[in-house]
Amino acid sequence: MRFSSCYIPTLKETPAEAEVASHKLLLRAGMVRKLTSGVYIYLPLGLRAIDNVARVVREEMNAAGFQELLMPSVIPGDLWKETGRWEHYGKELLRFKDRNDRDYCLGPTHEEVITDLVRGEVRSYRQLPVRLYQIQSKFRDEIRPRFGLMRGREFVMKDGYSFDVDDAAADASYAIMYDAYMRIFQRLGLRFRAVEADTGSIGGNFSHEFMVLADTGEDTIAACTSCHYAANVERAEVVWKGTPCTTGCSPYEQVATPGAHSVEEVSAMLGVAPERVVKTMLFTVDGKHVAVLVRGDREVNDIKLKNLLKAQDVQLASGEVVEALTHAPVGFAGPVGLDVPIYADAELQGATDYVTGANAADAHLLHVDLARDAVVTAYADLRAITAADCCPRCGAPIELPKGIEVGHIFKLGTKYSDAMHAVFLDENGKERVMIMGCYGIGVSRVVAAAIEQNNDENGIIFPPQIAPVQCILLNLDPGKEDVSAKADEIHDLLEEQGVSVLLDDREERPGVKFKDADLIGAPMQLIVGGKGLARGIVECKDRRTGEKGELPLATLPEALAAWMETVRQGWQARMA
Ligand code: ATP
Ligand code: MG
Repeated sequence: MRFSSCYIPTLKETPAEAEVASHKLLLRAGMVRKLTSGVYIYLPLGLRAIDNVARVVREEMNAAGFQELLMPSVIPGDLWKETGRWEHYGKELLRFKDRNDRDYCLGPTHEEVITDLVRGEVRSYRQLPVRLYQIQSKFRDEIRPRFGLMRGREFVMKDGYSFDVDDAAADASYAIMYDAYMRIFQRLGLRFRAVEADTGSIGGNFSHEFMVLADTGEDTIAACTSCHYAANVERAEVVWKGTPCTTGCSPYEQVATPGAHSVEEVSAMLGVAPERVVKTMLFTVDGKHVAVLVRGDREVNDIKLKNLLKAQDVQLASGEVVEALTHAPVGFAGPVGLDVPIYADAELQGATDYVTGANAADAHLLHVDLARDAVVTAYADLRAITAADCCPRCGAPIELPKGIEVGHIFKLGTKYSDAMHAVFLDENGKERVMIMGCYGIGVSRVVAAAIEQNNDENGIIFPPQIAPVQCILLNLDPGKEDVSAKADEIHDLLEEQGVSVLLDDREERPGVKFKDADLIGAPMQLIVGGKGLARGIVECKDRRTGEKGELPLATLPEALAAWMETVRQGWQARMA
C-alpha cells in the first residue's frame, strides 16, 4: 500500500467535538468520519482495523463450532410484538413504517429474528444444538451517543445465539463461548478481564462481561487482588462481616437542621460522622414506593434492589412523591414513622444511635435505634461495593479499575423461546422449549477500546492483531531514485513475508511523515533515507516502546524478520 494513493485524511488539529483519546485519534488518523450523531463512516484504515478484529472473532467462533449467517437489519415489528419488546425496548429501538403502513425496526440485536428462524426449522432434539452467529451493523438510538466508536448509534456487532435441549447442554454452549471469548481478547492483544455481570431474572453465574481495562471506561469492576473473582460493581456482592450492635441508646429526639439536606451538610451541622447517619432513599418500583436505607457514606445499588424485589423497573422517586410521603422537602426522609416498605442494607442490622431524617422540614432525629424505632421489612445486600470492602470469595482486598465492555455472554434460558414458542420433540416425543444463550462482541467498540488502552501524546499504539497495517515504511527522500528503489524493494519484501505495509511515498517533509506514522500507530516503523543507505542500514522503531535500532541492508530479510519477531514478543509479554 502506498500512502500517496490511499485515502488517509490525517488532521493536525484535534477536532473540538472529541472528548476521549480513541475518538480524537480515530478522527485525526483519518480512520473515521462522523456522518451524523453516533453514525460514522469507516475510512479505509479504520475499516482495516475493524476487519482485523472481525477476522479473529470469526476464526474463533468457527473453531468453537458456531456457523456464520447474516440476518437482515430491517426487522418486521410483528416479531418484536411477540416478545413484548416492541413496547418495552424504549426509544433505543428505531421504529418506522413501510408504504403499506406496516411496522418495522432497525435491528439493535437479533433474538427475535433468530428464534423465528429456528422455530420454523427445528422439530427434533436430533437437530440441536443450533449455534449461529453474524457480524453486522446494529442500530440503537442511544440517548447519549458519545466517544466516537465507543458508543455509537450505528456500530458493528458480532452476535451469536445457541439453542439447546436442556440446561446442561445450554451451560455447555455457554462454557464454549466463555473460552472462545478468552481466546479472542487474548489474541487481540488487549489487557482485559472477564467479570461476572448482572443476570437479572435468570440468576446464577451465567452472564459475563469482557472488559478492556482502561481509565476512560464507563464501567467499574470489583476485582480481587488475590483470587480470580471479578464482577461488575453493579453486581459485586458485599460481604458484611461486622457483628450487629446490641447495646441500646436513649430515646430518639428531634433536632433542627435548617437547610441541611445532604449527608455531608447534616453531619457537619450535627458534628456526627457520615457513617453514623442513615441515608433514606425513596424509590418507585414497578409503580409502588419503597424506602432503602444505607449508611451515610454508602451508595444504594439499584440493580440489587431490582433483583431483591424481582422488579421490572426501579426509579428514584420523584420530588413530589418524596414530599407526599415524608411531608417534607427532599432531604429529610427517615425510617421512623415512614409508611412504605423499608429495605435496609445488611450493614445496618442492629444499627443503634444513628442520625436519620425526621420526615419533617429542616429536622433530623438523633439516637435512632432501627429495630426499636422503625419497621424494617428486610435487611439485604443493597449497597454498592467500595474499595474498602473485601473480596466476597476469599476476603483479600479488592481494587476498582475502570473497564470498557467489549463483550457480553448471557444465558437467556427460555425468555424468547417461551414467548415465541420455539419448541422441539425430545426422545420421548414430548414437546419441550429450547434453552437459549446469546453472545455479543462490540467489534467496532473493540477498536476504540484498544486505542483507549494503548496510546500516547503522539497517537495510537495499535496491538499487532488489530493494526490496520503492521508496518509503516517511511521513504524520507522520495526524490532520490536509489532511496525510492530501496523503499520499493523493502515494501515488496514485507508483502512477500505476509506483513501488511504502508509505504509513505508522499512528497512531504520527514517531520510530517514521522508525525503521521506515530499517529496512525502501526506497531512497526521502518525508515529509509539517503544517509542510512550510505551507511548500509535502514532504521527501525518499535512504536510501543519507542526503541530504535538499525537493520543492516546486507542481511535485511533475516534482520527484519528477527526484529519483527522481537516486537511481537514484546506485545505478548505485556499480556502476561
Ligand atoms: P452498554 O451497557 O455499553 O450499552 P449493552 O449491555 O447495551 O452495552 P449488549 O446488548 O450486550 O450491550 O451488546 C453487545 C456488545 O455490543 C456490548 O458488549 C458492546 O461491546 C457493544 N455495544 C453495545 N452498545 C454499543 C454502542 N452503542 N456502540 C458500540 N458498541 C456497542
Ligand atoms: Mg446499551
